[in-house]
Amino acid sequence: MDFGLSPEHARLRDRCLELAADFATRSAAHDREASHPTENYDILRREGFLSLTVPKALGGQGISFLGHTLAYEALGQGCPSTALSFNMHASVVNPVLESPEVSDATKRYIADLVVNRRKLIGGNFSEPGHTSLIGERPLTARATRVPGGYKLTARKMFASMLEATDYVMVLAYPDGETTATAGALMLVPRGAPGRSVNANWDVLGMRATRSDSLLLDDCLVDERAALLWTDDLRTFRRSYFNWFWGSYTAVYLGVAVAAYDELRRVVRDRQPEGYAQPLAYHPDVRRHVAELSADLEAARLIVYRSAWLSDRDGPTDETTAALYRAKYAVGEAVGRITRVALTLGGAHAIFKGSRLEQLFRDGAPGAIQPPPSDFCLWNMGIYELGLDPAAVQPPIMPK
Ligand SMILES: Cc1cc2nc3c(=O)[nH]c(=O)nc-3n(C[C@H](O)[C@H](O)[C@H](O)COP(=O)(O)OP(=O)(O)OC[C@H]3O[C@@H](n4cnc5c(N)ncnc54)[C@H](O)[C@@H]3O)c2cc1C
Repeated sequence: MDFGLSPEHARLRDRCLELAADFATRSAAHDREASHPTENYDILRREGFLSLTVPKALGGQGISFLGHTLAYEALGQGCPSTALSFNMHASVVNPVLESPEVSDATKRYIADLVVNRRKLIGGNFSEPGHTSLIGERPLTARATRVPGGYKLTARKMFASMLEATDYVMVLAYPDGETTATAGALMLVPRGAPGRSVNANWDVLGMRATRSDSLLLDDCLVDERAALLWTDDLRTFRRSYFNWFWGSYTAVYLGVAVAAYDELRRVVRDRQPEGYAQPLAYHPDVRRHVAELSADLEAARLIVYRSAWLSDRDGPTDETTAALYRAKYAVGEAVGRITRVALTLGGAHAIFKGSRLEQLFRDGAPGAIQPPPSDFCLWNMGIYELGLDPAAVQPPIMPK
């Protein structure tokens, strides 16, 4: 099954592989310093990636979700942090541009920012108290109407590439609403008064995403900042699972590909003293590599199918289950592949500066990145058994 890959897809993937090769030359330095790969973001801006998936009707290139998936699998092989962070842009911009709940004026405003003015937009929905353990994420961030615009108060967390973006799209509770499902998508410019950053992203892997904490203290934004203001955000969120979280899956697939390729290079190159053949000839090494090849190919096909289904059918239950399955398969595969690659690389591989060491750490958040593997299984089980989600008991007792 070729999933209808077009010559345009092939060109995009090839270009992304070229960019990834360049990004890879700086990836270790950004990882070590936990620095923003801004020069990579600039290249991606120049190369048209801000408007890659913007619908053609709004001036973009109209690349499908499958095309985006191929592109970010390739980019993830070079500098995982660059790909994961930059994906944040499409993951929040596309839902706004595609949703019937967003006004045409707002869509034109965002498309103008992205296509004509080449603005990079991040997204910050997460808060320190959020967990998918119970599936609900009550918002403490507040958006309040004031004369001429809105005032925002928030303690947000995990905002990738925050200080490298021109705007960040923030999810807040709309003041005056009463339902638990209400939400407001607010666009906060970099220099907005009352906006500051707590640079606390000192972590194991994906260090150069710099997913710092965003602080909003009576932060003032103008009238156009409210991209969506609704008493029920559920349909909007569910309709764009593909962009909101499904788009990150491809990046971790790319990490798995990179680790697999690096492992094969290492065992082919390393010839121990006193032997006429490199480690690759050892039967156990061959067997490990063969097993990983099956993991990788299975994960890749599951991911491509989920993207193809998303493009073909939209947000059906089957598509949603396929996206969860893809995230689960990749989260598990990237963990296994990077771990086995590190093991076969041996003590030579655990030094700082070793590609396998970095990919081991960059792959570690694969199963954690939302939706975490456990949460994927929770949802896949409900789908596979044909259960009514509303009839499933909460896993721990609510207040
Ligand atoms: C590299 C990276 C970049 C990020 N960038 C951004 C960003 O730019 N913007 C943003 O808003 N957020 C971002 N996030 C944050 C992310 O979206 C989550 O909000 C955050 O990871 C939630 O915290 P948690 O993983 O501790 O949550 P939890 O949901 O509490 O997960 C912790 C663990 O609990 C278990 N678990 C969770 N749910 C279930 C379940 N239903 N059943 C059984 N077990 C379960 C799993 O083992 C899971 O790994 C980023 C996260 C990472 C890792």
